[in-house]
Amino acid sequence: MRSEWILVVEDDAQIRSFITYTLKQEGFPCLTAGNAQGALSQLVSNQIDLMLLDLGLPDFDGMEVIKKVREWSEVPIIVVSARDQDNEKAAALDGGADDYLTKPFSATELMARIRVALRHSRRTSVATQQTVHSVGGLSIDLERHLVFLDGTELHVTPMEYSLLSLLFRNMGKVLTTQYIIREIYGPGYGNDTQALRALMAGLRRKIEKSPAKPRYILTEIGVGYRLVDE
Ligand code: CA
Repeated sequence: MRSEWILVVEDDAQIRSFITYTLKQEGFPCLTAGNAQGALSQLVSNQIDLMLLDLGLPDFDGMEVIKKVREWSEVPIIVVSARDQDNEKAAALDGGADDYLTKPFSATELMARIRVALRHSRRTSVATQQTVHSVGGLSIDLERHLVFLDGTELHVTPMEYSLLSLLFRNMGKVLTTQYIIREIYGPGYGNDTQALRALMAGLRRKIEKSPAKPRYILTEIGVGYRLVDE
């Protein structure tokens, strides 16, 4: 199997070498760029499987890089951002990034996020036509509009179904609260996070053995939700 190449976009030389060192230890070949222009030219001239993108770059903003890249590529993007920049993270995810890492992060955290993103993108490329998706004991049949838990059909409301199918179709990817609200309630709905939280709570009571410790959907308060596939 061909190695999966990672592009590390980071202007801080120290962080860049920490990341590239970690990746090489784990057997991932990588390329680097210290600014946005460099990132774009690496992306067009190489087959990149994942991009780690620092948002604060010297030439132009990381957000601009995401926007440009998404015009022609579905490459997984994990943004790297400073602590307490929830607005920035949410904007990056809404702009098409797949996940985010908060600085400072450990090598273990970095590798975990990279593996999730790569696994998700491998699956999407093999199975775009697949209509049944599963995670643990939970599965959804997108063609027949059915949800199963441990092999038994689970009754869900139409809104719960919309939420679950959105999460399944974006498995592994963090979806922002705003994005989910827009997708399931429609555009004019504004920003009613309360309604989404209530919907999520109702769904969790149905699918989780212990709703307080959800297994299937990870919440990242203030930023969004992600359905995890392990
Ligand atoms: Ca920076």
